Amino acid sequence: MNVHQNFIGGAWTPANATIPVVNPSDGQVMGEIARGGAAEIDRAVQAAERAMDGEWGRLDATARGRLLLKLSELIKRDAETLARMESEDVGKPISLARSDAAVCARYFEYYGGAADKVHGDTIPFQNGFTVMTVYEPHGVVGVIVPWNYPMQMTGRSVAPALAMGNAVVLKPAEDTSLTALALARLAEEAGFPKGALNVVTGLGEEAGAALAGHPGIHHISFTGSREVGSLIQAAAARNTVPVTLELGGKSPQIVFADADLAEAGSVITKGITQNAGQTCSAGSRVLVEDAVYDRFVADLAQRFNALRVGSASQDLDLGPVVNRKQCERVQSYIDLAKKEGLPILAEGQLGSNVPGEGFYVRPTLIGNVPPDHRLAQEEIFGPVLVAIRVKDEEEALRVANATEYGLAAGIWTSDLGRALRLGRKVKSGQVFINNYGAGGGVELPFGGVKGSGHGREKGFEALYGFGAVKMIAIKHGG
Ligand code: NAD
Repeated sequence: MNVHQNFIGGAWTPANATIPVVNPSDGQVMGEIARGGAAEIDRAVQAAERAMDGEWGRLDATARGRLLLKLSELIKRDAETLARMESEDVGKPISLARSDAAVCARYFEYYGGAADKVHGDTIPFQNGFTVMTVYEPHGVVGVIVPWNYPMQMTGRSVAPALAMGNAVVLKPAEDTSLTALALARLAEEAGFPKGALNVVTGLGEEAGAALAGHPGIHHISFTGSREVGSLIQAAAARNTVPVTLELGGKSPQIVFADADLAEAGSVITKGITQNAGQTCSAGSRVLVEDAVYDRFVADLAQRFNALRVGSASQDLDLGPVVNRKQCERVQSYIDLAKKEGLPILAEGQLGSNVPGEGFYVRPTLIGNVPPDHRLAQEEIFGPVLVAIRVKDEEEALRVANATEYGLAAGIWTSDLGRALRLGRKVKSGQVFINNYGAGGGVELPFGGVKGSGHGREKGFEALYGFGAVKMIAIKHGG
């Protein structure tokens, strides 16, 4: 059985205890990862500090960028191996894992190219002064990522953090740490100086909490649930360090009668069922204008009924969810709808020869859900879409904004005026008009408002977020 070690200060080191790695497709144990804790985190932070004071900290931006580009090439070289590893570990269909590997490589490519394009400003000030700003790395950055898109989330946070010149201590999710370790191996091969990237695997309440609360961390980038996000922010507050929180969502898809309904139906179905619904920005509420509600949800129901669920390697529309707990949690929401008599408009099917012990949930469409119902308010994080009837634009906006979250929103209409009116008023970090997700887009700033968090990932915004502005005022007279 494979026992995976931590990567600290350029060396592979075991921990005193391990955590089993479970394959969500069949429930079987397929390896072990190190159960790192406070001691390993402390060693990793010290190694990162040494890297900042040593070779890594002395590299110029172009040299850092070249290392990221080299890592991107290595990820592309090993894309199939990484995709298979991710697919087994997370339970995601292999085609989706292949696209995740490509996106991960793209993050290192994008930020590799951007590393030496971070410009400060000169600021007009009093005569006799020249004033400039420069961007400097925070120092040691703690990165904590969730289990739904491990490779993508790692690339999304680690690439800009390194591009800006920080050293990173990464704590992957305990359910899905394998590709983070594989990426560390590739970073080693690419020639990153020791300690620039450290990976400590372990439980959230042990290694994660130790990382978030470590006094040697100068910035925390957290992607995960709202509950844990608030603990991270409290830990950051104790050390007065900045934190980026990418949390959950209950994102609305708003469909008007004048939309291209076939296109909307197809994209909305994919948006909530991709990755078995375990996508923070999944459009998990569909708000449909009364005039086309019945027709549109009937079309969605047909699409849902046609979906097939199977193991990661069967590569059907959906794989299992990540673990037993998540499976039971998602199923409890579906059971709640049934118990309360809400209309179950469609349920996808299990494919044939699906392993019995896997964590499978059938994609489910629930109709006529009241906007204030738990099913319309809470993040289910599974392949469950709730349909809500709205009478007009005004009600659509009110319902869209009436959750604690604000991550993404989709607006489907051929009236561009209405799309922009709504787009400006909807409370979310991203708005998609007549599309959803824009294919992932590593260039496009991403993040939430309200309970979905703060700070931005992706694009140049993420890069600037991993740096601190320093103002330098020079008095020269004249
Ligand atoms: P989670 O919050 O339980 O775990 C996320 C990470 O935090 C894991 O690495 C975990 O080990 C760690 N962690 C857990 N407890 C901790 C603690 N006390 N201190 C420090 N670290 C701790 O989330 P999850 O269940 O893994 O992921 C699902 C959630 O993540 C959903 O809410 C989803 O919406 C959100 N998510 C958000 C985004 C985004 O970009 N906004 C992306 C993916 C997932």
